[in-house]
Amino acid sequence: MKKIKVKLKSGSYDVLMAAGLLRNAGREVKRLLPSPHARVFVVTSPNVRRHWGPVLEQSLQRAGVGHQVLEMNDGEPAKKLSTVEQLAEQMVDARADRHSLVIALGGGVIGDCAGFLAAVFMRGVPVVQVPTTVLAQVDASIGGKTGVNLRAGKNLVGAFHQPAVVLVDPEVLSTLADREFRAGLFESLKAGVIRDAQLFDFMEKHAQKILGRDPKALEKVITASIQVKARVVSSDERESGLRRILNYGHTIGHALEAATRYSYFLHGEAIAWGMIAAANIGRAMKTCKAQTADRIITAVRAYGPLPPVTSIPGEILPRLVADKKTVGGVVHFVLPQAIGKVKVVNNVPIEVVERAVEQLKNNG
Ligand code: NAD
Repeated sequence: MKKIKVKLKSGSYDVLMAAGLLRNAGREVKRLLPSPHARVFVVTSPNVRRHWGPVLEQSLQRAGVGHQVLEMNDGEPAKKLSTVEQLAEQMVDARADRHSLVIALGGGVIGDCAGFLAAVFMRGVPVVQVPTTVLAQVDASIGGKTGVNLRAGKNLVGAFHQPAVVLVDPEVLSTLADREFRAGLFESLKAGVIRDAQLFDFMEKHAQKILGRDPKALEKVITASIQVKARVVSSDERESGLRRILNYGHTIGHALEAATRYSYFLHGEAIAWGMIAAANIGRAMKTCKAQTADRIITAVRAYGPLPPVTSIPGEILPRLVADKKTVGGVVHFVLPQAIGKVKVVNNVPIEVVERAVEQLKNNG
């Protein structure tokens, strides 16, 4: 089993990774129970429950951990305050108290909602993240960002609430649809671009193996991506500085998602387009060599296909201002300097952004 530590001032935790780990999740959860009588709530979706609920539930039972399952839908439209409210009401009905514990079994939507539920339920109960998509395993489950969307934009209501532990089992990815699988790999590619040239090289060279879900190649990618996220989060718990680099591809990616009402792109796909746009902006702003931008764009395409961009700049640019990455009306872009190295730039002329968005319509 691999153990990657996330070291924080507010308390450290482990990301544990092993094939088959879900079968031993009960043992790990038992160790963390706030009290011997703690109530445990597994938040999951009907779809994830169908595939992996029994494995987790049997493991909890074997460890003698009583629990109750609460269902919510996954997919972006479910990531809203009313979902969290309904879950909290169900917890109260089930007599949950401050010594309860929440397990998030699912993709990033379940993780963000259940994490936020745990952050606010009775002013905070522990959460164990059990991510079941590539995106959630390599990114969303680590770092303690939780929250929900508002109509105006993504993740506008939320809290930092670090998990007690993250349990990553690559075997659960076997039931993931191809499109979801590919979409998550863009976050790994992002990890390579911002901080790990070796990971990028590996993903560049072995796209076919990775897309074919070769277990060894996949474990390597997942481990390296987790390490990048853990290191960045450890040095900047609350996104005041370094952590902003994790937003590479997200400025335009989030705007594309919002412009298409969160129902056209998968999150990772929108980020992939955002990564292409940021590479082109980097080229135009000369933060990187043209060859670096080309390598990023070629690598992103290798993990495609992506749904085509149909939004025009007029639909995208106003949304950049509504994004949380805006400070005092200035839009921040994370731009490549070299593979494995990026910087935050806040003086990108609007025409350059416009051109980069326009270019996406012509396939980047
Ligand atoms: P998701 O949670 O909606 O899951 C995608 C789909 O995969 C769903 O239909 C789900 O039922 C299905 N699924 C999940 N696990 C499965 C499995 N093992 N087998 C079969 N099907 C499975 O989406 P996602 O892409 O995992 O997460 C996207 C969300 O993550 C976005 O809301 C994004 O904002 C958020 N996110 C959060 C952070 C963070 O730091 N908190 C970081 C990145 C992304």
